[in-house]
Amino acid sequence: MDALIRRMAEEGYVPGSPGSMETSDHAIEAELCVNGICEKCGHMGLEYAPFVDRTSQDFRAFGYCSECGYAEEL
Ligand SMILES: [Zn+2]
Repeated sequence: MDALIRRMAEEGYVPGSPGSMETSDHAIEAELCVNGICEKCGHMGLEYAPFVDRTSQDFRAFGYCSECGYAEEL
């Protein structure tokens, strides 16, 4: 997860989500991740990794594979 966090930090994003975002939206995306399969190594069950741009409040989320470190943007 560290590599993903570093990469996003370079683009101005920090782990988290905009205050305006509904909790239920996160629940849906998190569930997609849990049921997701890594494209790269086939590992089942991805970690939900939400990021927010501190200045613009732009939101991006990833499914992160703890097995191989692959991150797929949702
Ligand atoms: Zn993987």
